[in-house]
Amino acid sequence: MQSRLASPPTTSIADALRGDFPALAQRINGHPLVYFDNAATTQKPRAVLDAMRRHYEEDNANVHRGVHTLGNRATAAYEGARDRAAAFLNAPAREEIIFTRGTTESLNLVATAWGAAHLKPGDAIVLTEMEHHSNLVPWQLLARRTGAVLRFIPVLGDEGRLDLTGLDALLRGARLLAFTHISNALGTVNPVAELCERARAAGIVTVVDAAQSAGHMPLDVRAMGCDFLACSGHKACGPTGIGVLYGRRELLEAMPPYQGGGEMITRVTFEGAEYQAPPHKFEAGTPNIAGAVGLRAALDYLGQVGLPAIHAQIQDVTAYARERLSEFRGIRIFGPREGARGGLVSVVLPGVHALDLATLADQQGVAIRVGHHCTQPLHDRLGVPATARASFSFYNTRAEVDRFVTVLERVIRMLKGSP
Ligand code: PMP
Repeated sequence: MQSRLASPPTTSIADALRGDFPALAQRINGHPLVYFDNAATTQKPRAVLDAMRRHYEEDNANVHRGVHTLGNRATAAYEGARDRAAAFLNAPAREEIIFTRGTTESLNLVATAWGAAHLKPGDAIVLTEMEHHSNLVPWQLLARRTGAVLRFIPVLGDEGRLDLTGLDALLRGARLLAFTHISNALGTVNPVAELCERARAAGIVTVVDAAQSAGHMPLDVRAMGCDFLACSGHKACGPTGIGVLYGRRELLEAMPPYQGGGEMITRVTFEGAEYQAPPHKFEAGTPNIAGAVGLRAALDYLGQVGLPAIHAQIQDVTAYARERLSEFRGIRIFGPREGARGGLVSVVLPGVHALDLATLADQQGVAIRVGHHCTQPLHDRLGVPATARASFSFYNTRAEVDRFVTVLERVIRMLKGSP
């Protein structure tokens, strides 16, 4: 079938940049790797690997305590990463950036520290039906601890848009609204600024899960108008084990600590402790210094490529994949048909078990993910136990989508035993 989409530029940024990612050059089971599991984690450019190696070889020391040269270098690198992350999110102040292990820990930090101080029995927490377990289970735990109740904004059909018609009623009397920017299962892009504005007008604190948007598009916490935003370095070309929580200064200052330990205190007696100001109040213990160095290198790399160009490439490949996949008879494709969408396509093929599909695709070098993608309640709502998900980064190409489609055709023939 002839593609309806305009031809891509003769060389895309993907072609120009793939060579920066050593992992992409390998063959899997004798085939060139097609890595379509970027929503789970992205590959890392050499700049990130080099920065971390150089840190360990030349600057390794603990932070915030050394009077020696290596300690000062490590502290400068760690705090420099905080400045870079603040710029990446357009945060008003560097003190509003807390380093965590990732999105999951960022969300748990808010649920634990903010939640403990603010919620009482009967208070409502509003979520959406499309949340990743990371943005659901911490609120369930909080609700159990405090007696608060959870309410959910419904998801409409397979296209997966939020049904905002009843939002005013859901927000009435609520204390907090937490939602994902981009769904990792559907690719839906939620209207962040609108949701935050409506919550703010009702005096409700907002938490944005930006795990799937950070590194895919420019992010601006001021334009979004959110109170908190969580993201992971490893989904934005950085290392695992480092993430960011942005929090509005007044809220962070008023919150109790998340964990206790070294680094987060100003004075300790046997009876009690005085805490540092944010961000250090929320960073107990030796942090992931090399992770922060790697994250900084990743954000610098993404900045050099340009987030608008990255976004455009991901949009192009995703739209192309959606169109090519629609050629399969009976296929059920989830997520928005038109307009902005995250860089992924989730599908169910009639008569084909998702796990068989992924296993056979891997035998031909194609890495995709199958399952409920940590959104089990959403899958219950959609009435499917599992979907097969191809998720893209800016180093993926239309040619790789073509290979994926060829592999799928072959796999379906094998599984159905028919031509
Ligand atoms: N939220 C969303 C939307 C995600 O896609 C993910 C990762 N799949 C997470 C939260 C959790 O991120 P992490 O595992 O890096 O903490």
